[in-house]
Amino acid sequence: MITYGKWVKMMNKKMFAIVDATFKVNLEQLTLHRMPGALPFSGKYRLIDFTLSNIRNSNIINVAIFPYGNYRSLQDHVGSGKRWDLDRRRDGLFILPPKNLYIPPEEMITFQRMFEHIEFFKRSTQDYAVITSANIVWNIDFHKCLDEHIKSKADVTEVMYEHIRLKTFIISKKLLIEYIETYDSLEYKTMLDLVEKAPNLNIQIYKHDSYTRTIDDTFNYLKSNLDMLKFDIGRTIFREDRPIYSKEKTAPPAKYLNNATITNSMISSGSIIDGTVINSVLGRDVKVKKGSVIKNSYIMSNCVIEENANINFTILDKQTIVKRDTILEGSLRDPYVTQKEQIVSYFDSLRVLLVASESYPFIKTGGLADVIGSLSRNLARKGVDTTVVLPLYRKIRKEFESVIKSDFTKTIIYDEERYKVRIYTYRYNKVKYYFIDSFSFFDNDLIYGLENDADRFAFFNKAVIELLDDLDPFDLIHIHDWHTSLIPLLLDNSPHKGTPTLLTIHNIDYQGVAEKDIIKKIGISDFIFKDDHINFLEIGINTATKLSTVSPTYKEELKYEYYGKNLTYSLFKRERDFYGILNGISSLFNPEKDKALKKTYSVNSFEDKYINKLYLQEKMGLPINKDAFVIGMVTRIVEQKGFDLILSSFDSLLENTNIQFVLLGSGDQKYIDELLKLEERHPNQIKLNIGYDATNPNYIYGGADVFLMPSRFEPCGLGQMIALKYGTLPIVRRTGGLNDTITRYDHLTDKGNGFTFGNYDAVEMKNTILSAYDLYKSNKDVWNILLKRAMKSDNSLVKSTQKYIELYKMITKN
Ligand code: ADP
Repeated sequence: MITYGKWVKMMNKKMFAIVDATFKVNLEQLTLHRMPGALPFSGKYRLIDFTLSNIRNSNIINVAIFPYGNYRSLQDHVGSGKRWDLDRRRDGLFILPPKNLYIPPEEMITFQRMFEHIEFFKRSTQDYAVITSANIVWNIDFHKCLDEHIKSKADVTEVMYEHIRLKTFIISKKLLIEYIETYDSLEYKTMLDLVEKAPNLNIQIYKHDSYTRTIDDTFNYLKSNLDMLKFDIGRTIFREDRPIYSKEKTAPPAKYLNNATITNSMISSGSIIDGTVINSVLGRDVKVKKGSVIKNSYIMSNCVIEENANINFTILDKQTIVKRDTILEGSLRDPYVTQKEQIVSYFDSLRVLLVASESYPFIKTGGLADVIGSLSRNLARKGVDTTVVLPLYRKIRKEFESVIKSDFTKTIIYDEERYKVRIYTYRYNKVKYYFIDSFSFFDNDLIYGLENDADRFAFFNKAVIELLDDLDPFDLIHIHDWHTSLIPLLLDNSPHKGTPTLLTIHNIDYQGVAEKDIIKKIGISDFIFKDDHINFLEIGINTATKLSTVSPTYKEELKYEYYGKNLTYSLFKRERDFYGILNGISSLFNPEKDKALKKTYSVNSFEDKYINKLYLQEKMGLPINKDAFVIGMVTRIVEQKGFDLILSSFDSLLENTNIQFVLLGSGDQKYIDELLKLEERHPNQIKLNIGYDATNPNYIYGGADVFLMPSRFEPCGLGQMIALKYGTLPIVRRTGGLNDTITRYDHLTDKGNGFTFGNYDAVEMKNTILSAYDLYKSNKDVWNILLKRAMKSDNSLVKSTQKYIELYKMITKN
């Protein structure tokens, strides 16, 4: 007979564990100061406790955690691993940080990342490895997976729950080391790649059949916490035979005062309740005062909810104070989320000034104009008193002369000279617009690209500050990109000192580098210079009250020099004040109503979309062919957008395929010349429309089958969101906002709304396009499911506007 001790020993020999904590998630402010694994869960736990407890309960004693970025809170929590029986002389718990801090996190841990610690793998005495994740709520016996793995003679076993992939795999140590050691010569970067692409591998699926949820966004986080309150679910996770272990803390039991009413909730020790708590989880030492009501929410430790506050579908991070009478209302899909130590209070009016270099419909060269135009309109709709200031370029004057009104004049001193400017106003969709008219600086056909751009925008910033004297005070000034980045510095030297500012970075590549005398010209004398140049954006980053950028992933990426360039360090210093808010698109993008289409269509009549394909082919002069696979692009033709990849792979991509490519865009002549040559080589497959036709690229969004965005970097990207709305599946590189909006088609689960690739690599792009083409040809049913799913996706601006309002409130402590 095998004794228990012997059995444990035997099992120990078999498997070691890799805990992946290097992946990208979208948990907003909740992961601002902590890694996902360190998130509090169900009162007294942290997320990683589930995976570590499963490991302990499966008698695994050799464990490596791979963290990224700021992993101190995780390290504090895990400690020596004692609670999971991992504090040992042999084997035990290892935290293996990245050697190269400059590689941003991927979908899951890469073989390259493992290679940095190859010694760990080689030293391990166990024959098998389980690779799993730090952000799953579950209770699983990994040895059952291993038994199945061995029985089925699989090379790799993937663990799934229903149709959900968990990024959890079993593989022999030998095979794993082979793939780790060939990370730079084979195209498999992760276990996911391996399962999807490696030929001749025997892949098995192990279906785990009790409650499992991956926590990768705020919806799943709240949902899973609330699930634990349901008896049937809670008991499958918190089991006596396989307990979830956590760091012990002692505190007196919770106290319920006279007015306390508690329904189906979990209240942790130390809390004092005198209000109503329904269907919610409260961490330690939370105070809920008389008259307040908390429903469907997760309240972390040390929060204070003052009298008569009303909270629904909300996540309060640690030490949040909710002032009396405040109403916080989120939804399960999109909870209201606070940040650690935030003070939230009732507000009845918020007065905000947006300053930018462009805004639709007055002037537009790119995505920035779309964002300012629609953000301001949506803010006003939601009751925020909204004002926008723009320069009065010649183009605006010409087109809007009949509606804008001359209001008053001002004298602005710039470079010791006096300039007279006229201020025009216009109320557009409840937004008050001011235009600054200066013959010397803005009366030009070009908006950007003039020799004196730095002077023009420095002057604009100075004029905005002077204009403040004539307007009612603002609660906050929201500035955008380098063109407005001197405003916080100027504010500090003005009577309006103290007005908070938010700087949104739409694209870090444009920084406004100029001679240092600009500072003197705007009238500032006590500035400390680093060298002979100044950098507008850098000054903005150093001086604005808070910073944001236009997608959560871009925000993370900017920590790495590949993306953040020379400003990585400046941003790093402001890490705690930096937010990522995804842009959205206006409801005007709608294939049901779009007059640019030959035939409008909806989710229910998507079959009509092909009529627009025929129209597109006709319009562009391509062979008319319903079965052709049409790739569309609408973009600025610049390096950022991935033209190097296109130019080096399209000749071979197009060969012997029924693929057509249409491109509408304008930009760098260097790329345009090469693209024209490519078009000449493939006259029946490529048609270019070079020029900026802002009125209507929508026949491409409607007519193409797929929309290509192989960007080297993409702060947010609007093209892919528009394409989704039109049922045109995006093919994108997983970067910036593309990563936040597009999930790749996964043939195992039929999930996804597009096709993605990870590395900036022409072969990867080409293979991704070909796999989309194969699916299009071979499986129209699945294609149509994806198409309909894409059309239903919600990237509306209403959502991002709400996020901006929350941030405004936090900044103004209103
Ligand atoms: P970026 O702001 O970097 O240019 P985005 O994807 O955020 O890229 O926004 C681009 C927007 O501009 C999209 O709405 C796209 O349709 C539009 N656009 C780009 N080039 C053209 C063009 N030549 N003609 C018309 N619209 C264009």
